[in-house]
Amino acid sequence: MSAVLQTPIEYLKGVGPQRGELLRKELDIQVFGDLLKYYPFRYVDRSIIHQVKEITPLTQYIQLKGHITGFRQAGTGRQKRLMATFRDETGEIELVWFQGADWILKTLKVNTAYLIFGKPNLFNGEFNIPHPEIEAFTDEIKTSGKGLQPVYSSSEKAKKKYLDSKGITKLTHALLTQLVPKEVPEFLPAEVLQQYRLISRYEAMANIHFPKNEALLHEAVRRLKFEELFLIQLQLLKVKANRGKVVKGFIFEKIDNKFDRFYKEGLHFELTGAQKRVLKEIRRDTLSGTQMNRLLQGDVGSGKTIVALLTMLMGVDNGFQACLMAPTEILANQHYENTVELLRGLKVEVALLTGSVKGKARKYILANLAEGNIDLVIGTHALIEDTVVFKNLGMVVIDEQHRFGVAQRASLWTKNEHPPHILVMTATPIPRTLAMTVYGDLDVSVIDELPPGRKAIKTIHRTDAARMQVFGFLRDEIEKGRQVYIVYPLIEESETLDLKHLMDGYESLSRAFPKPKYQISIVHGKMRPADKDFEMQRFVKHETQIMIATTVIEVGVNVPNASVMVIENAERFGLAQLHQLRGRVGRGADQSYCLLMTGNKQSNESKQRISVLCQTNDGFVIAEEDLKLRGPGDLEGTRQSGMLHLRLADLASDGNVLEAARKTAQQIIEEDPALAKAEHQPLLNFLRENLKQMIWAKIS
Ligand code: ADP
Ligand code: MG
Repeated sequence: MSAVLQTPIEYLKGVGPQRGELLRKELDIQVFGDLLKYYPFRYVDRSIIHQVKEITPLTQYIQLKGHITGFRQAGTGRQKRLMATFRDETGEIELVWFQGADWILKTLKVNTAYLIFGKPNLFNGEFNIPHPEIEAFTDEIKTSGKGLQPVYSSSEKAKKKYLDSKGITKLTHALLTQLVPKEVPEFLPAEVLQQYRLISRYEAMANIHFPKNEALLHEAVRRLKFEELFLIQLQLLKVKANRGKVVKGFIFEKIDNKFDRFYKEGLHFELTGAQKRVLKEIRRDTLSGTQMNRLLQGDVGSGKTIVALLTMLMGVDNGFQACLMAPTEILANQHYENTVELLRGLKVEVALLTGSVKGKARKYILANLAEGNIDLVIGTHALIEDTVVFKNLGMVVIDEQHRFGVAQRASLWTKNEHPPHILVMTATPIPRTLAMTVYGDLDVSVIDELPPGRKAIKTIHRTDAARMQVFGFLRDEIEKGRQVYIVYPLIEESETLDLKHLMDGYESLSRAFPKPKYQISIVHGKMRPADKDFEMQRFVKHETQIMIATTVIEVGVNVPNASVMVIENAERFGLAQLHQLRGRVGRGADQSYCLLMTGNKQSNESKQRISVLCQTNDGFVIAEEDLKLRGPGDLEGTRQSGMLHLRLADLASDGNVLEAARKTAQQIIEEDPALAKAEHQPLLNFLRENLKQMIWAKIS
């Protein structure tokens, strides 16, 4: 920012100490530069002058040029009003004021050219315009028109001091009149401006507030979106580059022992092409000498677990310890049992560490982790407690990473003197644009292929009225030997109420599916971990046919014989969560079903969510829809990150701008990481002056 843009806002013409205080407190406008970045949220088109005869009942706003032929007052009390007849070449219309008649009569003259702007109103079969904006039709307007006029948001308190949209317009206008181009210096290199045909920073700022025309507005917005996204990317990539430089990564030279034996003998299926590709990417990272920081995205059921296991074996083969952290005990237990089963015969020492592992067992595990006798540990948050010490942790895998906060993830980084390689996995597909922004400092691998032989899950919407038919359907499926999940929503604010719903559901199901023919498992968040696990195991072993649960089963549980997922109160779940839940079925060879139950009445948004889900099984399509429906702020995984306060860019629709911005940032960081070249001086200066204000400078 130039010195002028750092000037405290009260020094702007028309502000002063009192309004300055309001601007600071209410709108977070501290200095001139903040006002410049206080962009309008829409515009009214004042570029065209219409005619009176064009007005129809559908006209929203209209701008007219003409003159007043006379005034008259009418009505009494609250009906008291001043009216003026306004005429142009095509006709007449009444202008109406319910207040301020004296002032109007004093300032407006008959037979003088005026430009008026307002909203026509139909009254007794005639149009009038109440309280129009009105100004003299000057030569300036005649030649350049009024163009697009900005509309700014404001706060109630600010509005009371005339800092409404109009008031702010006056201020931005004053500021832009005073600023000369060199006071809004360009910081993008000329080459970049040329390559993407971007207008200068000054021109963009001038036109986003007072666009000369639609085309220039479009260019201004494009330039400023580019700038916004470019600055984020530059910092993310800088963080990434620094990490590579500062931190040396362990080199896993050997894969000839456990990895190879397991690959050849332990796998009872051929890896998909996507799984193989991801393993190669990881292999390359672990040979590169820099620390791996990789995000593995793959839809539910795409087979991330086996990739994780093979990845950990790479570490074990090279004499390192590996760990896998999962967000729930159920999932950690399941991973543990599968792993023990799969690695039978290989000399790999595997342990489970969760909150329920206590006393002697815990002591034993902690001691052996510290001594290096345990090769591979699987667990929950319990793994990041201070008491857990590794001898030489070389590979960390974090499953369903969106469930962990950034801080929790980071604490595993520091478990070793020398940071281990990190693989974070998520089954919540993240739209590309979002991944580039939220995880922009990570490398991203994608499993975009499901194991062969899977049948697409059929998703069906039913209302409560059809419950009896739904039960009939469940009986048929159970008859065929299948198992069924029934999931109830859990919303933290009213856990007791949710538990009641779950219990009511359990009772009515117990009646519809009586013992001993039918056995039902139940799992919810208020249960003790051991009880949860017991119930879960009954279902896994097929001792029960029905599993009633809250969303604790959302994450990762794998029971291939379960082929029906019933989601109660589906309207209370978000798209991503519904998709996750649905992913619990469709894991075997049988046709699977997902039944979305709702009440009769639904909001439009919930209807839309349910229809998206009935139409597609593709997690990435669903993620894009979710982004469109809710905006990035609410998406799973971005909530904690708090770094998406974008002013202009929209991650749902600005993918192209983001790609370009990222590419540009990448080139600059590669060519000139210290920004030492002459053409990067303005950028370096800009970053120095602004970095402290940018939230994303904090992430690591
Ligand atoms: P997710 O990616 O959701 O974690 P999992 O790793 O749990 O998925 O895998 C889902 C199921 O698919 C598991 O039963 C797993 O054994 C199986 N699976 C994984 N990869 C393959 C493959 N290449 N061929 C056949 N089955 C596979
Ligand atoms: Mg999984």
